[in-house]
Amino acid sequence: MAAAPRPPTALYDYPKYWAECLLPTPFLPMSRQEMDQLGWDSCDVILVTGDAYVDHPSFGMAVIGRVLEAQGFRVGIISQPDWRDAESFRALGKPNLYFGVTAGNMDSMINRYTADRRLRHDDAYTAGDLGGKRPDRAVTVYTQKCREAFADVPVVAGGIEASLRRLAHYDYWSESVKRSVLIDSTADILLYGNAERAMVELTHRMAKGENIRDITDLRGTAFLCRTIPEGWREIDSTSVDQPGRLKKQKNPYEMSKPSDNADAKEIRMQALKADTCASAESASADSEPQVLSIIPDTQAIKTDPSSTYIRMPSFDEVTADPVLYAHADRIFHRETNPGNARPLVQRQGRNDIWVNPPPIPLETEELDWVFDQPYKRVPHPTYGDAKIPAYDMIRFSVNIMRGCFGGCTFCSITEHEGRIIQSRSEESILNEVEKIRDLTPGFTGVISDLGGPTANMYRLNCKDKKIEATCRRPSCVYPSICVNLETDHKHTTQLYRKTRALEGVKKVVVASGLRYDLAVLDPEYVKELVTHHVGGYLKIAPEHSEDGPLSKMMKPGMGSYYEFKEMFERFSKEAGKKQYLIPYFISAHPGSTNEDMMALGLWLKSNGFRVDQVQSFYPSPMASATTMYYTEKNPLKPLGKNNTEQIFTAKTQEQRTLHKAFLRYHDAENWPMLRKALRRMGRSDLIGSGDGFLVPGESRREKEVIRRQSTKARPNLKAQPRSSRTKPRRR
Ligand code: SF4
Repeated sequence: MAAAPRPPTALYDYPKYWAECLLPTPFLPMSRQEMDQLGWDSCDVILVTGDAYVDHPSFGMAVIGRVLEAQGFRVGIISQPDWRDAESFRALGKPNLYFGVTAGNMDSMINRYTADRRLRHDDAYTAGDLGGKRPDRAVTVYTQKCREAFADVPVVAGGIEASLRRLAHYDYWSESVKRSVLIDSTADILLYGNAERAMVELTHRMAKGENIRDITDLRGTAFLCRTIPEGWREIDSTSVDQPGRLKKQKNPYEMSKPSDNADAKEIRMQALKADTCASAESASADSEPQVLSIIPDTQAIKTDPSSTYIRMPSFDEVTADPVLYAHADRIFHRETNPGNARPLVQRQGRNDIWVNPPPIPLETEELDWVFDQPYKRVPHPTYGDAKIPAYDMIRFSVNIMRGCFGGCTFCSITEHEGRIIQSRSEESILNEVEKIRDLTPGFTGVISDLGGPTANMYRLNCKDKKIEATCRRPSCVYPSICVNLETDHKHTTQLYRKTRALEGVKKVVVASGLRYDLAVLDPEYVKELVTHHVGGYLKIAPEHSEDGPLSKMMKPGMGSYYEFKEMFERFSKEAGKKQYLIPYFISAHPGSTNEDMMALGLWLKSNGFRVDQVQSFYPSPMASATTMYYTEKNPLKPLGKNNTEQIFTAKTQEQRTLHKAFLRYHDAENWPMLRKALRRMGRSDLIGSGDGFLVPGESRREKEVIRRQSTKARPNLKAQPRSSRTKPRRR
């Protein structure tokens, strides 16, 4: 099982597999006919995906396929097979090594259902935008069908759906806690996160004859484990983070006893010296989330991650006790740093699920190598002229980095990709822009995005690798921007300048989400962005106006929004441009009460915003906000019994609709509901015409309708026998 971090083999340094002589392919084959044309008798690996096959580095299957191809393996793709028929899974014959199964770029449930669990009829990842081309819980269904097609072929599960279901997790759609997808799907191994490293090593080892069941030491993998191998020491998770009553509440992210380890001492000293503001904050804010500490977890330094694992509460325990579920969430989020994470083990039925620590992030040269593979950058010809909306959205855009250190609790990017930023080189990015210019049909000179999970985290990393390796903060920017974080955006600014200077490039737009609390630390960057890279509107996401919900989201307060707004308006004016800032908000987020939503509605009204679309909170597996939604506990704080905080969450359809309605206060259809809610909340003073009100009062006609309805609803007392007219008695 996982060894302590050691420099891994670079992706391009593996000796090639013998089939290299039959490669590369124009497209990865999707049919027997294409295999024949390539002179292949079989595939070494067959990838099964819920998405249409677009040979582009923004599509996970294309990336994994091309990376394996570059190692010398013959890779075929079965895209959106008929999952009712095992024959579709035999389309390319039997793979020599394994089936690789993914739901696609999105979780199949999120792809298929809205945040209110309504069925969608479209699918941006399907030719013709047609819904219904993939099953619900695609990883499980596809894996079972692969087994049915070829019972003796191993199955490797990956992609975001498998990744976020590696442990027991709350499933919003069935409103229940579900076991790891490894159990339901029967996959042999699960690869989580960006899986190039694990996939390449796994495939080479299997090609050399290793049994997949014996490959247990790969980072970024999870598997079923019947017995814990010898030589491993168990740490019970409750000794790392106590969920029960504590005599004295303490921050579980702090060490219990300082380590004597010399490295640890030095790191501790550096961290303590550097982060005086963080300690001042933590001393003053008893009511604030306490998990975010710069102090390295020296217990982790003492416990060797190559021989120590953490036993989490079992599936049965987290199902039975919300506190233990929230506790498991805390443990999971503590163990996400490849520099210090230990394996996590969770009992599920008669087996354990063993989750190895996350993969070591790719070096810049490796990421460049991944992006430099011979992608055709278009959908497979089998789709003809049919539109694939997800492809249309990204075909002129360039992904410049991976990972996110924001840690927003409603988002699962950090849980999937990690919080260490992996950036491409300038040269590789500029090469890709030139490829778009020269090869992509329909290019008019506009690059539609130069970004990634966040627009402005390119080459922003922890200043000190040693500190980074011991850090357990779930965010580098919340509750305040860490003093160890590099915040100079000069590399991004320079990249923007060089990209727009390329011949044939008329405009470069930045459409990825901007972390504006970070951006304001570098006014030169904001000026560059505002002057050259805004297409009229810049969308940013404060997500809420109120401190309560913002603290549950781990988002900055509105102070930095105003700071950014001031800069945006000033630089737009200086550039002589009329540009607008469009803020986005989430409704029904855990911790957001009716009063919070009302305050947000008033904020929107006083700032003149009328939002068209509202995103309701969508509880995705493994996000901390989903834990709040399910348990009504706050996993951002220690969970001792002294912690009695109950998190309010709008769960019923009525509550969720009301929260949405507050954001669309200007929509007349919402007024009756809002008036009713405001009266119930004792805020009738907000009903009326004018600036100080949220919604107008009833018109004369509406009043008349209400009067008639209430008359109708009132019982006709005269028609009733005298005995039933008495007032109800008090019990
Ligand atoms: S910058 Fe991020 S990784 Fe580095 S010490 Fe701060 S929080 Fe930890």
